[in-house]
Amino acid sequence: HAKDAGRNTCRLFDEAMHVEAQEMLRLRSQFLTALEQGRFVLHFQPQLRLGDGRVLGVEALVRWQDGDSLIPPAQFIPMAESSGLIVPLGEWVLHEACRQAMSWQSCYDSPVVVAVNLSAVQFKRGNLEQAVASALAGSGLAPQLLELELTETTLLHQTEAVLSTLRRLSQLGVRLAIDDFGTGYSSLAYLKRLAVNTLKIDQSFIRNLSGDPDDANIVCAIIEMAHKLQLQTLAEGVESAQIADLLRQMGCDQAQGYYYSRPLPIAQLHAYLRRQQAGERTQPGGR
Ligand code: C2E
Ligand code: MG
Ligand code: MG
Ligand code: MG
Repeated sequence: HAKDAGRNTCRLFDEAMHVEAQEMLRLRSQFLTALEQGRFVLHFQPQLRLGDGRVLGVEALVRWQDGDSLIPPAQFIPMAESSGLIVPLGEWVLHEACRQAMSWQSCYDSPVVVAVNLSAVQFKRGNLEQAVASALAGSGLAPQLLELELTETTLLHQTEAVLSTLRRLSQLGVRLAIDDFGTGYSSLAYLKRLAVNTLKIDQSFIRNLSGDPDDANIVCAIIEMAHKLQLQTLAEGVESAQIADLLRQMGCDQAQGYYYSRPLPIAQLHAYLRRQQAGERTQPGGR
């Protein structure tokens, strides 16, 4: 009987694997169709200067529009990375983000940078430098208005090829930021050498900033070290005025989070920027 049970377990396991593989294939083919039919959309989340509330940038975040529902990136980016589909998706994101960044410059009286997330896979496969150059040329966006977000993990697994790609990207004039900073391993001196402009301090340190002294110490140390190396700091996941105030006291440069705005569809981003602009103009003593 034990043997039978074993065989049954195996069979069930095989079936489960089979279902999983089929599910993967189905997802993959739906993904390609969605890309061809233009069913991915970008939402945009403002990044503000803590000192005076000016909007300095906007992060582009991809969503998959499936009928009435919007599928969040956590549900398809891992599959896109393991299948290599992140390469064509990433190219689409770069082009669309640069194109939209041109569309909102007239809503605000100073330039607003667009930040685009890159996956490690885009460094390994596909011609990233050429994709970035072509997105800039196709849209007419000035290179200094494009910021590329990479993670410490991307840098960790780097080879000479990744490093030289990064060097060539910064020679194009685009900005570089490290996303989710503090969750991986990287030396700050090294980041400085790579011509990184901004460290985006991971949300996990920001969430309990007012209650957890360890988090507060870590964030303070990151800001201090970053500034000594002339790197900008941005806090991710700011959800309250209290956290924003703390960060301002700590000398953090920029903030991004639900307290200011959720990621917005393009029309709502335009409205947000116009409202901000009007508010700043009418504020007594404001800009
Ligand atoms: P990320 O780049 O670290 O982006 C920040 C994520 O935190 C976004 O989730 C954003 O909606 C969310 N967020 C922003 N403010 C707050 C807040 O105050 N509280 C909380 N709880 N969350 C906040 P989203 O849009 O679901 O994206 C998740 C991740 O998916 C991104 O993390 C990024 O790693 C990846 N991703 C998104 N778009 C792209 C893309 O175009 N390409 C690649 N390769 N990855 C992308
Ligand atoms: Mg990001
Ligand atoms: Mg992040
Ligand atoms: Mg991330």
